[in-house]
Amino acid sequence: MSAQTLGMPRDERFVRRLSSKSTSTTDLNMGPTVVVPPKHLTAPSDAHEIAAAMEIARHSIELPITPPSAPGTPLETTVTGKYAFAFDIDGVLIRGGKPIPEAIEAMKVLNGQNEYGIKIPYIFVTNGGGKSENERCLQLSQQLQIEVSPGQFICGHTPMREMAEKYRTVLVIGGEGEKCRQVAEAYGFKDVVTPGDIIKDNQDTTPFRKLTEDEHNNSRLRNFAEVEIDAIFVFADSRDWASDQQIILDLLMSKNGRLGTRSENFDEGPPVFFSHNDVVWSTSHDLTRIGMGALRVSLEAMFKAVTGTDLQTIAFGKPQIGTFEFATRLLQQWRKETHGINEPPETVYFVGDTPESDIRGTNEFNNEAENTWYSILVRTGVFREGTKPKFQPKVTVDTVLDAVLHGLEREQKKALKRRVLEASIEAETIEE
Ligand SMILES: [Mg+2]
Repeated sequence: MSAQTLGMPRDERFVRRLSSKSTSTTDLNMGPTVVVPPKHLTAPSDAHEIAAAMEIARHSIELPITPPSAPGTPLETTVTGKYAFAFDIDGVLIRGGKPIPEAIEAMKVLNGQNEYGIKIPYIFVTNGGGKSENERCLQLSQQLQIEVSPGQFICGHTPMREMAEKYRTVLVIGGEGEKCRQVAEAYGFKDVVTPGDIIKDNQDTTPFRKLTEDEHNNSRLRNFAEVEIDAIFVFADSRDWASDQQIILDLLMSKNGRLGTRSENFDEGPPVFFSHNDVVWSTSHDLTRIGMGALRVSLEAMFKAVTGTDLQTIAFGKPQIGTFEFATRLLQQWRKETHGINEPPETVYFVGDTPESDIRGTNEFNNEAENTWYSILVRTGVFREGTKPKFQPKVTVDTVLDAVLHGLEREQKKALKRRVLEASIEAETIEE
């Protein structure tokens, strides 16, 4: 058996396996990679085939030039191409920074530890922000003790990457310290400003917020009277709503994004983009906590109160259709490269905990997609038993493990039904 028939993607030599303990994000940025938990470092894991193939598919859709080794014939693979899983992360796989125990078992089932010996492809679609896809990958590899690749991650802010060409000087909001500036720069934004830079230039901007020593040292000194900010991107949850909103409001009311100026009709400010619109989210607290969608609502209401005019902002992430289209492109490329079929899997099971983003997005996308998007709601996150979700899933289950088993059984039944029908048609043909 050749290397190609051992479940190894054809571009295997381009895929590097890195440890989740020792790898830096710079290592991850150097090309197709998968990340393995240290104890699995030397042995190929069950998850390797899916992680590596998805990484190569991701590079194919994001880079205009196909790698020179690209293929002719599809590979022999043990992974089904008929269906796939897409997982939300917070409240489904992870809660309060810790894995939900069933999530680890669910990953084993997907990687072939099931009574049919079948392997099922999967990706992660999260609204959570403030970390690059690469960092998310490192973290999840440790948390779930599984081999994963950055290519398997779609974040709320993933589509912002495509806006780096359009907007030169941008303000990024949210996240810890300098994190979001780093993510934005890694996305290709040329000139990235933070609220800290603005406060450093004029500390009277935010009367009740003074920069810490660290913040002061990390912030970049420049003269904002000479800078035009072209767009505002809320990459992650704001750590200081009052001062961040003050700065956003100043820019929205300015002439062409120049601080210290005021537009007459308040219609000359830069656009504001949010990486998602989840009003609440699930953490280790018993009750849900407010998130970025709440900041959006608050900002729009405040703009109206101050200026008397409406503010239009734009949100990415789930339930926006663009996120699901991106996921479809990725899964289609993966299927083309592994199965030689240039179509997405026939059914994508989407497992989420938030009816307003996960279930709504999946259902709405299902109405217009060529394939089936099947929504599964779990009880481990935002959704609480006894409440009636505004957006109804196809099925509600306790945990992500139940969700995976539900999809697996449903597909096995479909396959059995297909075989019975084919056999009966064959029998009729012979009789004739
Ligand atoms: Mg969630």
